Amino acid sequence: MNTQTKMFKTKELNISKASPEIYSSVKYPLMEAFYTIQGEGTHSGKPAYFIRLAGCDVKCWWCDVKESWDETKHPKITAGEIVGNAKSSNASFVVITGGEPLLHNLEPLTLSLKQAGLMVHLETSGSSPLTGQLDWITLSPKRFKKPLDEIFPYVDELKVVVLKKKDLEWAEENAQKCPSDTNLLLQPEWDTPTSIPLIVEYVKMNPKWRISLQTHKFMNVP
Ligand code: SF4
Repeated sequence: MNTQTKMFKTKELNISKASPEIYSSVKYPLMEAFYTIQGEGTHSGKPAYFIRLAGCDVKCWWCDVKESWDETKHPKITAGEIVGNAKSSNASFVVITGGEPLLHNLEPLTLSLKQAGLMVHLETSGSSPLTGQLDWITLSPKRFKKPLDEIFPYVDELKVVVLKKKDLEWAEENAQKCPSDTNLLLQPEWDTPTSIPLIVEYVKMNPKWRISLQTHKFMNVP
């Protein structure tokens, strides 16, 4: 597993040489931020500070955070304020999620987080270009808007939501493009538990895959 921070410079804003003050003044539409337990995937069970940026153009019909889609409905908060709250939470790593966080230039926010000594994880559909400085990339590809090819070499964890058999084909299609040491995870959709037997049988027959459950929902924590 590659544990080095991955750096993706934005093509749109040449701010990579900007001062920390300029980074921290950049604003992001923030739906919510909270310190909780990472419930899903490889880091399940670890405390993490979640930063949920608003805005999503993928629009999965089963999305459980549809209120995140319209970024104009959420306040714009400076990277400095977001990082300050993350730093004071006692978390050792943050998870930037959404919405689709790569709709935004993540360079100022992630660099500010790194400067504050925090590890940065990203959860993305991969449908927009990579930006920022990232320690862990979770790709959760959606058929509604496919991932860009550029993300695949950097994926640490591939997490595919499975509702029906066709999603397993989609999972394999994406897994083929990931590095050989990527953690491969199949996750039932919370409101469609009928897919669980399908996933269980598939993992038994294809043990390179593991099952990821939304354990925070069982624990009733955000
Ligand atoms: S990509 Fe994520 S936030 Fe966007 S619609 Fe799909 S599940 Fe919801």
